[in-house]
Amino acid sequence: MISVEEALRIIAKTDPLGGTETVSVYDCAGRIAAEDLVSPIDQPPFPRSPLDGFAFHSEDVKGAGRERPARLKQVGYVPAGCGTEFAVGPGECVRIMTGGRIPADCDAVVGIENAAYEAACGFDGDDAVQIYKEVGHFQNYVFAGEDFAKGTVLCKVGQKIDAATAGCLAAAGFAALRARRRPRVAILATGSEIAAPGSPLQAGKIYDSNSVYLKSRLKQLGLESETALCPDDPAILAQELQKRIGSYDLVLTTGGVSVGDADYLPIILAELGAAVRFAGVRLKPGSPLMLAEKDGTQILCLSGNPYAAAATFELFARPLLAKLSGDPSLEPQETEGVLAEAFPKGSAVPRYLRAKLENGTLYVPSGHSSGQLLTMAGCNCLAELPACGGPTPAGTKLKVYRI
Ligand code: AMP
Ligand code: MG
Repeated sequence: MISVEEALRIIAKTDPLGGTETVSVYDCAGRIAAEDLVSPIDQPPFPRSPLDGFAFHSEDVKGAGRERPARLKQVGYVPAGCGTEFAVGPGECVRIMTGGRIPADCDAVVGIENAAYEAACGFDGDDAVQIYKEVGHFQNYVFAGEDFAKGTVLCKVGQKIDAATAGCLAAAGFAALRARRRPRVAILATGSEIAAPGSPLQAGKIYDSNSVYLKSRLKQLGLESETALCPDDPAILAQELQKRIGSYDLVLTTGGVSVGDADYLPIILAELGAAVRFAGVRLKPGSPLMLAEKDGTQILCLSGNPYAAAATFELFARPLLAKLSGDPSLEPQETEGVLAEAFPKGSAVPRYLRAKLENGTLYVPSGHSSGQLLTMAGCNCLAELPACGGPTPAGTKLKVYRI
């Protein structure tokens, strides 16, 4: 048995996965960039109007007001998407819509509410426009590159792409990004008592919740996984493991890793020639936890008890996934909390309690056994209770891992 810290040190030595893949910008949020991308264009690519209105030379509307409108002649119409370059001389204007390209000759735009066609005002000439407001040089004028200029670094190697960055990559014209490969994860829930949800429940059997928990958490963390069930049969277990070794980066097993008669995993992994990185960690729950490695596949064996599997996934599988994927944000975030109520039981090893952290206070639900999952529903963290001989009083500050 080793300490939690020692197990985490071993996990920290895991090599990141090699390999990159091309990912569409539509799907790249949450991925780790494997290339720097520099914008080849200004965004926006041209000066554009932020208003529906008229563009002109600002000098032509100097001193304009409701009483003394400026009179301009409309020489073009620039809706959004229009590429025509109009020549706009002194005393002239174009009608322009939001997002329309401001002609090179113009340096200002006035909103439609501050302008009117003379025809509509009862004057003659339907191309004559009255401007009722003075606007200065570059007023209501969005410069090319206002968002980012050509040459701006939009993402760096190792950066986790967020939605805004993905949007900027698209705005710069990139259709795809070279990203680090994501870990391929297989979940193998072992146990002869385990039945798939939805199947008829026979005597002595229970439904598999571990695969669902683990797959759900992986999904929340942005990772895909495949699930399968396997009975406590050494030959089948060996076969199922062998099938996954070499083709997945991580195999998460639950059950069969303790010292019971049907706990075959340690023996089978040894027979398959997997290198054991650690076996047994001093913590509660889930101490039989084991990590082995073969042919580039990490095999992390979790206890079958649903809460033990859940807690050890958070504490050990997440740092392992963080290393494999080169994404430190997969590690559980550490913080602190203060126990709202005394925790009655001592523990010879550090104990990880499911809890709800609210404004720095830890609320621990009643019902802590490693076989209970329902009390974990709605919890947002694990609170670390150091090894202690007796009760932990209310108000004790504990280290907390957000989940
Ligand atoms: P084990 O780790 O195999 O000794 O299993 C410990 C406990 O967890 C037993 O009561 C099992 O029935 C239960 N268990 C094992 N696997 C699962 C699973 N996939 N879903 C729900 N409970 C499980
Ligand atoms: Mg079992």
